[in-house]
Amino acid sequence: SSRCHSSGMAENVRVIVRCRPMNKKEIELNCKCVVRMKNCMVETWDPNEGASFPKQFTFDSTYDQDSYTEVIYNEICYSLVESVLEGYNATIFVYGQTGCGKSYTMEGIKTEDGSQKGVISRAFEHIFEAIAVTTGVKYLALVSYLEIYNEQIRDLLLPSEKLTTAPTLNLKENPSEGVTVPGLTLYPVHNATECENYLNIGSKNRMIGATLMNQNSSRSHSIFTISIEQISNLNNNESIRKGKLNLVDLAGSERQAKTGATGDRLKEATKINLSLSALGNVISALVDGKAKHIPYRDSKLTRLLQDSLGGNTRTLMIACVSPSSRDYMETLSTLRYANRAK
Ligand code: ADP
Repeated sequence: SSRCHSSGMAENVRVIVRCRPMNKKEIELNCKCVVRMKNCMVETWDPNEGASFPKQFTFDSTYDQDSYTEVIYNEICYSLVESVLEGYNATIFVYGQTGCGKSYTMEGIKTEDGSQKGVISRAFEHIFEAIAVTTGVKYLALVSYLEIYNEQIRDLLLPSEKLTTAPTLNLKENPSEGVTVPGLTLYPVHNATECENYLNIGSKNRMIGATLMNQNSSRSHSIFTISIEQISNLNNNESIRKGKLNLVDLAGSERQAKTGATGDRLKEATKINLSLSALGNVISALVDGKAKHIPYRDSKLTRLLQDSLGGNTRTLMIACVSPSSRDYMETLSTLRYANRAK
């Protein structure tokens, strides 16, 4: 991959695309590859029309089926996490059709050599290694983990017996603190392993809650946040820096037509689309740079992330796609969405 030049506001908002390899089933079924990447360009084409009529999209970087998460981390995520340590807010979104590599990219796969570690573990390790080598600064790191389903907010770090009975949480806005979620559980963390543990507890709760409430967890958005407060004391002058990193797993992008949604499922799909389309609008307004009004208020997702999108913050969207002819329509819609965000 290679980075493309971008300037101004767009520097702070990056959109990249990653394509997974063909899987065994697709190879067995003799599926054709309908995705091609060249530098910052992604091309996809209708399998019935062939590669001579591709649709083209440009992004900040592209990562093909042979790419390594480590390279994505070093090229794109590293500087974003550094900015969090400098006291800025940042957000990493992962988006795409279920089965296209969102978990592979963010959570990764545990292997002995750690070569397939995901972005999340790498970020945790990065943060705590940086903290370990800094002297003269006191750190307070806190994590929280919540889910937005049908525009309702749930705490994923509650004890599991309270998952389905606890009332949903509300947003509160005040001038000094901005948007907060009163009642949301916050845990202090001291190392990467503790972060991983809370992430695992919350992800399990997300699955358990979805099953108990007969919901599909790939239809919810989740936000894991690690906030870092640094207190330093120079010549008896105390200074405080605060930054936070939001890791956002967006609902699967599969279109409702394909899933044949009706009734409650359709309502659910519409709400998901509301948060997703609101996010698309916010990001494209930010990228535009000239927009006077950023429509944060249109959804829970964008309200929650208001202090971490735009201004002095850094935003990364990782769009994951499949190379297979069977997924062409989904791939096209993912690329269109991610491209709008650009
Ligand atoms: P999602 O989270 O988007 O539903 P997954 O991350 O679970 O999708 O990916 C589906 C399958 O494809 C998994 O078995 C995963 O290991 C594999 N996979 C996804 N992306 C890659 C990749 N870039 N390289 C190798 N395998 C991948």
